[in-house]
Amino acid sequence: MSSVSHGARRGWRSMPSALAAVANLKAALDQLATAGGPQAGLSSVATPSSTESPLNWVFLGPPGVGKGTYASRVAKAFGVPHIATGDLIRAEIKSGSDFGAQMKSIVNSGKLLPDEMVQQVLHQRLAQGRRDGEKGFILDGFPRTRAQAVELVRSTPLSLVLNMSLREEVLVEKCMGRRLCKHCGKNYNVADIYLPASPDGSRAAIVMPPLSPPPECAPHLETRADDREDVIRHRLEVYKQEATPVEDFFRAQGLLVDFEITAGIPETLPLLMPLLQSYAGAGRRAD
Ligand SMILES: [Zn+2]
Repeated sequence: MSSVSHGARRGWRSMPSALAAVANLKAALDQLATAGGPQAGLSSVATPSSTESPLNWVFLGPPGVGKGTYASRVAKAFGVPHIATGDLIRAEIKSGSDFGAQMKSIVNSGKLLPDEMVQQVLHQRLAQGRRDGEKGFILDGFPRTRAQAVELVRSTPLSLVLNMSLREEVLVEKCMGRRLCKHCGKNYNVADIYLPASPDGSRAAIVMPPLSPPPECAPHLETRADDREDVIRHRLEVYKQEATPVEDFFRAQGLLVDFEITAGIPETLPLLMPLLQSYAGAGRRAD
């Protein structure tokens, strides 16, 4: 329980900076609006102004925050690959390589893959990207531990670590609202979230309408067995314990940027993109 309240306090303290960031973004958004609306900002590709600072970004965030979706959208907009270590591992296993077979036997035995294996898969992918002339990457699902973070920074220069967050009660509701159509495999979310702003203005309102299924999917929806409240809370607790040392390390490196999500993806992307554009091509920036 103690780390739950610790996490909550951390979130609280990060709010003023998040609010300041949102305020700064207002100006950037106004510019985008005059250039053809926020959608224009979303579809335009920000090209790093010079070649010397690759767009090497890491996205962190708890389960349920939508990190994979944001990473994928942002990667597309910036013209860099979205690299999810989970996907790399699945692809290596599927490739039938010796290394893949080794990993498969570990995964099948229910054990966690050792750091060195995950790092090797990732290094292979990053080296390939450098050979192919990729101008950066958005890394999702890695690093999970402080040791991995130290090793990553040692081997690859990062320019930004985006730390996405969402109030815990919202994460729980969102996870419990997940539905999978067993007919076509599409994901939906039936959670309808509205939390008013706190009276003192320290916390913004959170508005997340449901992502409702179309009528043809509605009869086929199912909930994943591990999307139960107790399981979700445990998952979040484990995440917090793992993530705190990683966040602290990146913060000390001057790389961490906190971003609190308070709305759905269509409302959040126009806030997130200008923030990220300010980092693209700017290289490593002091806070
Ligand atoms: Zn369906």
